[in-house]
Amino acid sequence: IISKLPQTGTTIFTTMSALAAELGAINLSQGFPDYDCPAELKELVSQAMQHGHNQYAPMAGLMSLREVIADKTEKLYGAVYDPETEITVTAGGTQAIYTAISTVVNPNDEVIIFEPAYDAYAPAVRMMGGLVKSLQLEPPDYRINWEMVKRLITNRTRMIILNSPHNPTATMLRKEDIDQLISIINSRDIFILSDEVYEHLIFDGRTHESMARYAELRDRSFIVASLGKTFHVTGWKLGYCIAPAYLMREFRKIHQFLVFSVNTPMQFAAAEYLKNEEHYNYLPGFFQQKRDHFRAGLEQSRFKLLPCEGSYFQSAFYDAISDEKDTDFVIRLTREFGVAAIPTSAFYSKGTDFKVIRFCFAKTQETLDKAVDRLIKV
Ligand code: PMP
Ligand code: GLN
Repeated sequence: IISKLPQTGTTIFTTMSALAAELGAINLSQGFPDYDCPAELKELVSQAMQHGHNQYAPMAGLMSLREVIADKTEKLYGAVYDPETEITVTAGGTQAIYTAISTVVNPNDEVIIFEPAYDAYAPAVRMMGGLVKSLQLEPPDYRINWEMVKRLITNRTRMIILNSPHNPTATMLRKEDIDQLISIINSRDIFILSDEVYEHLIFDGRTHESMARYAELRDRSFIVASLGKTFHVTGWKLGYCIAPAYLMREFRKIHQFLVFSVNTPMQFAAAEYLKNEEHYNYLPGFFQQKRDHFRAGLEQSRFKLLPCEGSYFQSAFYDAISDEKDTDFVIRLTREFGVAAIPTSAFYSKGTDFKVIRFCFAKTQETLDKAVDRLIKV
């Protein structure tokens, strides 16, 4: 067989979670909570099943869910999206990303990706015959140099992929970034894929700069969200994409043959649960407390912590501990100290030599304390 993705192996998340399970290590690698979701949410799924909502959902998702998504987007970002034509429920953020990329990227189209980048973007671009143009960002602040972005743009640039709050660096786009972005894409035929799966995981009173806030950006953006992240149920694989109708029409042509529609009972539960704003408004406080607790613990260690503005990831330099490559260091950390983490070189297409690893702090206080006890001995 001729591989479609010769440069791609098994994702680092699968690899590290498997290693953590094999060694019985505390798994701070793959990003998911180790605590259960709210009981009410499970009850809503069970009720939907009991009431016989067990057949195909409408192709674009349950209307009741699309309506609350539209309400939420309007309340939070002041943007009006039509649930009929501009919102589609997807099998997680992942499927929304793949579908959005397939919707606009044609062979030899160029797509700008900022690295470190979540590992789902580049393979989807390559599957469409597109060319990845990556711009490397550097620790500790990982700011985007927009002059360099300008230089990367050609008349074949079809899409720019953004992710804020950012995985793995936990940085967030600022208003200055948005202004630069608007000035760069103005008068050009470029689409935006904005991965906003961590939209509710924002700290210290920061503002999430959703593309939905800005008319010039909204008109050409696919915005991706994940209810798995928002409701602590990554295993539900439930997300959505919002985009202007002219893009969503094409998106749905692909979506209908990729999955047709997404599991019905979970959509019923999400629609009901999302009606209460408190069910997402508490998230910044909830995760900020975990972030602060984890960071305070690690102050006693030899890891040097990078800033964490949003998401549920904490990056750390380990150069005071070892000069091993990050991939070797995380394996040794898992084997010898019983804590699994993610090497950030996995988010760079050509690897890097930065001595930075990523921990996920979406864990109980008990897990975080246990992990800190081990990490201060490293
Ligand atoms: N984008 C980013 C930046 C992520 O970290 C993840 C992983 N949760 C996803 C997309 C995929 O989201 P989902 O689990 O809903 O497919
Ligand atoms: N987004 C999660 C992370 O960054 C992992 C999702 C996955 O395993 N595909 O850890």
